[in-house]
Amino acid sequence: MFCSYTMETMIKNPAFLRSSHAGISFLLLLLLLTACGGGGSGNLDAGAENDTSVGGGGGTSTSRCSGFPWCDASLTPEQRTALMLAELTLEEKLQLMAGDDPDSANNGEPAVGVANGIERIGLNTVFYSDGPVGVREGMTTAHPAPLALASSFNRELARQTGAAIANEVKHKGNDVLHAPTVDVVRIYTSGRVFETFGEDPYLSAELGVPWVEGGESEGVIVNIKHYTVYHQEGLINPIPVPITAVIGSRFLYDAVIDERTLRELNLPAFEAAVQAGVGSVMCAYNYVNGDPACASTHLLQTILRDEWGFDGFVLTDYYFAQKDTINSANAGNDLEMPFGVHYSQTNLQNAISAGQISEATIDERVGNILRTLFRYGFMDRANYESDDDAIDQAAHAAIALQTAEQGTVLLKNDGVLPLNPAAISRIAIIGESSDRYVNGGGSSAVMPFSLITPRQAITDRAGGGIEVIYHPGDNAVSAAALAASVDIPIVFVTDGATEGQDRVCMNLTCIGDDGQNQDDLIAAVAAVNPDTIVVLQTGSAVLTPWRNDIAALLEAWYPGQNGGAAIAGILFGDINPQGKLPLTFPDSEDDTHYANNPAQYPGLAIAGPNGSTFQVQYSEGIFTGYRHFDENGIAPAYPYGFGLSYTSFGYSNLQVTGSGPDLTVSATITNTGTRAGTEIAQLYLSLPDPGPGVAQPPVQLKGFERITLNPGQSGVVTFTLNDRSFSYWDVTTDQWQIAPGCYGIRVGSHSRALPLNQNIAQNGGSCPP
Ligand code: BGC
Repeated sequence: MFCSYTMETMIKNPAFLRSSHAGISFLLLLLLLTACGGGGSGNLDAGAENDTSVGGGGGTSTSRCSGFPWCDASLTPEQRTALMLAELTLEEKLQLMAGDDPDSANNGEPAVGVANGIERIGLNTVFYSDGPVGVREGMTTAHPAPLALASSFNRELARQTGAAIANEVKHKGNDVLHAPTVDVVRIYTSGRVFETFGEDPYLSAELGVPWVEGGESEGVIVNIKHYTVYHQEGLINPIPVPITAVIGSRFLYDAVIDERTLRELNLPAFEAAVQAGVGSVMCAYNYVNGDPACASTHLLQTILRDEWGFDGFVLTDYYFAQKDTINSANAGNDLEMPFGVHYSQTNLQNAISAGQISEATIDERVGNILRTLFRYGFMDRANYESDDDAIDQAAHAAIALQTAEQGTVLLKNDGVLPLNPAAISRIAIIGESSDRYVNGGGSSAVMPFSLITPRQAITDRAGGGIEVIYHPGDNAVSAAALAASVDIPIVFVTDGATEGQDRVCMNLTCIGDDGQNQDDLIAAVAAVNPDTIVVLQTGSAVLTPWRNDIAALLEAWYPGQNGGAAIAGILFGDINPQGKLPLTFPDSEDDTHYANNPAQYPGLAIAGPNGSTFQVQYSEGIFTGYRHFDENGIAPAYPYGFGLSYTSFGYSNLQVTGSGPDLTVSATITNTGTRAGTEIAQLYLSLPDPGPGVAQPPVQLKGFERITLNPGQSGVVTFTLNDRSFSYWDVTTDQWQIAPGCYGIRVGSHSRALPLNQNIAQNGGSCPP
């Protein structure tokens, strides 16, 4: 386990090798490669020889289904699956329960995952690819980090992004797409926050569903991930000795979580995606309440299939999510990726012979995969060919640009923005991150088809009349000297978020941040020029200790291949910013719910019965993110849902119609400023505490709508509420329940600015007069 984890982390995360431990890391990697046998010894099943297709999902259409009874497309997927299952030998079935390319998840391979077909029965090879930012195979359209999409609160843009990424996945010859990531954020320094839609389950579900639908409209099977309670990568121990090499490792921690928190925070986005018909679910690396997520009957059978009616297939996250053979097969895990270790022929055969797995269970596992392939027309179409020329790069680039424009959040503006070119003769662009592609590391790292850096875009937009001087920011003293000599210094800073390891702090001084103390850089520049603008390109919320000393602050996240254009457009006022935060920005790391509480994060070294070696207590319950800050009266630096515009908006005329929980709520929004702009109006509910020990946070997001208005113009936004909006998970009945009581409907511009308010009673409760 240690061998494989550490090697995988290193191989997949160039940032790991770039870090200040690069020397040690490299030596360790060499050692591991020697000690662990190179990592390439897999179980290449029989189908490898049979396969007629070529890597990357190329192949020929001759191996597609024809002439067999199950090729009859007029039959239902269930009928076709039954026919095919009856034809398969046991050995062939077992082959279908594991991928076939041990190295496939390393960058540079033609596909991220490969599951060989069986030519004898006309079943072709299935190709898998990542991911949430773009296809991870050669060059691609590099979309902004999903956090930017989340900041746009734009369902239609989520649909377009899912469709654009799936389209490229298809045109690179793949059939299944490992995305989107809908795990809700619990730990701000976790390495994969950038891949998510933030800390709120409602927003994650509302964007996840159209993303999935967009992706599947392209004829690609969407594989939503990571199911579930996957919240941390772990902290790399500076002294990497076995066992404690990664503290709270994603492969080894057991999330001790209560059912209400599971249901209310972690599951809604998966549940909504299942209801929208998602074809596949990736189970996560971690353990949940003692069981591996990929061997949990509660998660895979009871909730996913029995309660939600999921009829697609479950596959494991790569290499180490699957921890065993028998429990996994019996719990409902269909496919081990990227190759069969626990689902090797030998292990499965032995378990069947010993009566530990029944052949009916094998049929169920394989049947789930085949039925999904039939349902998605996989057998009835030609292979997707790998052909970059078939990709409409311009159309996809336009979507990436739109997301960067709509997802950049203006956090502070004392009036310096938008820049007035007539009043500026010299701009300094400070910070090396202004001059390159900035993205997160790991399986969401992609190579952009094209790139417009902020430095280039600002220089172009400034035109000949304004001198633009660049400074890499590697020396705070000389950067400050330059800043003192210009009208406007714009400081670009970034973090170093990557899959495989969490950041060690929320400042801009941690390992992975290119070794620079960027907080000191900002402070030095701000000290000499009051018009300092800071642009964050970060993968999560970060601390902003210098925010009172600067003139303006933009959060552009990892803005994708066209991020530079969006940033320049916003700085110069060609674009009016509209993004809102999908994460709370704490004032201090001590304000987080897990601060100074190692049992909550990164976990304590306590072994569990099924191989977990760390225990993470979710003792905060549902009080994470803004729920925690609001409940405990802690003022954040910037609250959830916050974001400024170059215009202003007024809220009036709250109307509530309908009965019971099925309500329609409307509000009038007026552009009270002097520019056209888009507002993201937000609806939060205050739920009453259903009983002792079942506390509700002050507010929870239950609706949002975007509206674009000219100066002076008013418009109406409409939100729809239903029984789920008002429900909490009741652990005594194991059901969603609406507590009798008084509910506050609050509408406004962010979680802490909710001027419209109406109380409404539900379920026999009453409201005070
Ligand atoms: C990640 C997944 C990814 C897979 C394949 C894993 O390490 O957790 O999100 O889809 O690799 O690259």
